[in-house]
Amino acid sequence: MENFIQEEKIHQILKEKKNPNAEEVRKIIKKGLEKKGLTIEETAVLINTEDEKLLSEIYDAAYQIKEQIYGNRLVFFAPLYVTNACQNDCLYCGFRSSNKELKRRTLTMDELAEEVQILEDMGHKRVLLVYGESQKIGYLAESVKTVYQTKSGKGEIRRVNVNSAPLTVEEYKILKDADIGTYQCFQETYHQETYQKMHVSGKKTDYFWRLYALDRAQEAGLDDVAVGVLFGLYDWRFEVLALLQHSEHLEKKFGVGPHTISFPRLEPALNAPMSIDPPYPVSDHDFKKIVAVLRIAVPYTGLILTTRETPEFRRELFNLGVSQVSAASKTYPGGYKDSISHMPEMEQFTLGDTRNLDEVIYDILNMGYIPSFCTACYRLGRTGHDFMEYAKPGDIHKFCTPNALLTFAEYLLDYGSDKTKKKGLDFLEKEKSKVDPALLPVYEKKLEEIKQGTRDLFF
Ligand code: SF4
Ligand code: SF4
Repeated sequence: MENFIQEEKIHQILKEKKNPNAEEVRKIIKKGLEKKGLTIEETAVLINTEDEKLLSEIYDAAYQIKEQIYGNRLVFFAPLYVTNACQNDCLYCGFRSSNKELKRRTLTMDELAEEVQILEDMGHKRVLLVYGESQKIGYLAESVKTVYQTKSGKGEIRRVNVNSAPLTVEEYKILKDADIGTYQCFQETYHQETYQKMHVSGKKTDYFWRLYALDRAQEAGLDDVAVGVLFGLYDWRFEVLALLQHSEHLEKKFGVGPHTISFPRLEPALNAPMSIDPPYPVSDHDFKKIVAVLRIAVPYTGLILTTRETPEFRRELFNLGVSQVSAASKTYPGGYKDSISHMPEMEQFTLGDTRNLDEVIYDILNMGYIPSFCTACYRLGRTGHDFMEYAKPGDIHKFCTPNALLTFAEYLLDYGSDKTKKKGLDFLEKEKSKVDPALLPVYEKKLEEIKQGTRDLFF
């Protein structure tokens, strides 16, 4: 099978672009600000920039691009771990099959529904179902159906994204029929030798089966696919350029690149040696650079930040281009019902941010961000290529803002604490000025309907 990750080429580019001069860096930043993305060579220049003055110019550019494309919105989601049973043995993960101390649990559909209700009662509208790699497609499809069918009061989950083991095209078609939103499958590391070392047994030892997972998903009609790297396994510079090569491969073959990129950093997990002592630890300084450089290199691809990072660091990263965040997460099956923030004998990794959803929302309001629970695009068929047709000329922005405000109004009315409600309602009034004037009358009408009790209104 052809490896579209050209390792030699990546190493060579990183070497050639070492110690870039200020003029070259500034030329690339200027091009980045045109929001047309960067080549791999240009990205390598930014990656290799060490001068603090130039770095702050890179951060400023990332911030400007984020502001222009995504505005001051942050879309919220919650991961929902359905099972921690796994046939693979990845040296960095607490769910690895050889971890005999881990308590294994696979939720029944009733238990899953209980977890969903708890998330709905918090105000979540998007979940990401996460499965250890051992489940059959029938279970996956049934669990997606259960999430959509479970309602609590005015709460419902409107978009179910999935993170699962790589599947066959036929199996992906079943997920497509179950109406999933984005499909995620992370390569973890694109460096083949490292990949083989980290994956000791099970189907995950097959680098190419995983590398082509998103091709098969696209062939099955899942056109919102998501890539990701687990930073800390190999040199982050290599991984960033490899992510771009993966993105280019998808764009070339299917006409659309990944919908989102995730960039988790290794966090300690029970009996997972590589998580405690990562071979290539990524410092906060470098992590900031990863987020900012990705924002400039692939401006229209969503960047997802999880609760692995601490609240303080998350605040810094929001300004560098993150567009989606998780909050109040639990990383083991049944975790929301247990309501215990740290459960080493069951969880995949340790969390850095354990605040509840309302606390995170209050915090980001203070930073001037609009929390969004929008799921409109996927429900209107604005996915894959169609989505990019709206996103690239900047047209999506005009829908994102009113949708963020409408879904935030729902949150405030149904779930907001008194403190958040007070602040949030003032904020809604203030942010109204950002709604496209052509949409403003309809927006105001929809907002009034929401105040009267109608739910799920969007553009
Ligand atoms: Fe299993 Fe995924 Fe953990 Fe590997 S990373 S052990 S495949 S759950
Ligand atoms: Fe996302 Fe589309 Fe909603 Fe914007 S309008 S927040 S792109 S779902």
